This record gives sequence, C-alpha cells and structure tokens, in this order.
Amino acid sequence: MQRESDLNAKGYSERDEKRILDALGRGLLKEFPNPDRAGCPGSDVLSRIASHAMPLAEAEKWLDHLTSCSPCYGDFSQFQAAHQRRRTQRLLAIAASILIVVGVAGWALFFKQKGPSAVQTAVLDLRNRSVPRGGELNPGEQPLEVSREVKRLNVYLPLGSAEGAYELRVAITTGSAIFTTNGVASVKDGVTSIETAVDLSSASSGRYVLQIRKPNSEWNSYPLLLR
Ligand SMILES: [Zn+2]
Repeated sequence: MQRESDLNAKGYSERDEKRILDALGRGLLKEFPNPDRAGCPGSDVLSRIASHAMPLAEAEKWLDHLTSCSPCYGDFSQFQAAHQRRRTQRLLAIAASILIVVGVAGWALFFKQKGPSAVQTAVLDLRNRSVPRGGELNPGEQPLEVSREVKRLNVYLPLGSAEGAYELRVAITTGSAIFTTNGVASVKDGVTSIETAVDLSSASSGRYVLQIRKPNSEWNSYPLLLR
C-alpha cells in the first residue's frame, strides 16, 4: 500500500489518468506508423508512465508523442495492461489474506463452540499394549489418559482380541471399582473395539486402572490417568 500513496504523491488523480487515456485513445494503433521509431522515448519511459512510476509533470512532455506514434501507443497499452494485472493481483492477494484471517477465526470459533462435545468420546488404543494378566500392571507403562468429562469410550482392544461380550471397569489402584459396564466388541475396519457410555464425572482426577475381561476370565489391567 506504500506504493499506492507514492503514486498519489506523484500527482496522478483519476481525472489525470482519464485524460491520458483519452489522449492516447485518439492515437489509435494504426494511424501513426513510425517504423524507424523516430523520436520515441524508449520502453523504460513508456513502462514508467504506464505504471505511474514517473511523475506526471515529467510524463507530460511525452504525451504529444504518444498520441502521434502508433508503436508507442501499442507498447504503452501493453505496459498498462500488465500494470493493471499486477495491481489486481496485489488486491486479490490482500483480499485472500483477509479471507484467510476471517476463515481461521471462524474455524477457531467453531471449534470453541464444538469443543465440549468434541471431547465427549475418548479413544483408548490398546492395540499395541502388551497384555498383562490379573491385577498386575507392567511397571513403566505409559498410562492411558482420559478426561473426567468424557461421555463415551471407544476402546481398541489388543491385537488378536476376540469379538463378543466384555466387562469393562475403572478401578482405584488398590482394586475397588469406581465404574463398571458391559460392552460388546466388534470388528470395524480391521480393529476390534468396544464402544460404551461412561460417567467418570464424580471421580477425582488421578491414577486409576482400566480393567477389561471376557466374562468369567481374568482382568487385563492398564494404567489410566483421569484428568
Ligand atoms: Zn514512439
């Protein structure tokens, strides 16, 4: 935009612009052949007039020539079209960057509004977890993390797990359950998973154990961090 104000400082108003165009319009492309380009100012001058890089006072002395030399008029027209294209591109780039800012803001707002429901389903991926037996936990295993706000769990069972009925519970580390439910595992897209409703909102945050078993078999336990 700095450039725009520079141009204004050089004294081109819209009326001046129109005057030049009108003057040149009279200089039609064919009426003034000048094959030897006698007295032509050169393409640098034409380009600077077309792009308003030359002060009007300086450009003035070329106007008579431009209105009586078809080759110069042709060159000037091309420079001017190129200048207009660049100007349009600059304006489009500005408009595009405004749209991007508006878009990002809208997107952020959308997710802010969708935020609470977006976190209501948590995916717990046990596919690559080793399968512990009984209530024992593998020392050093990274705990699964879940928000207490979560309303549904989607548990991806360890690879090779069978479909069918499962029991699922969240227990404190000394063993008693704070939440218990039943679910049916099924294969979707090659993953055996259980989707089930949960309510952990009354639990305090901290370390727990997620336990899963087929009915009447041993619990498999995974460390769980409630946030
Ligand atoms: Zn000329």
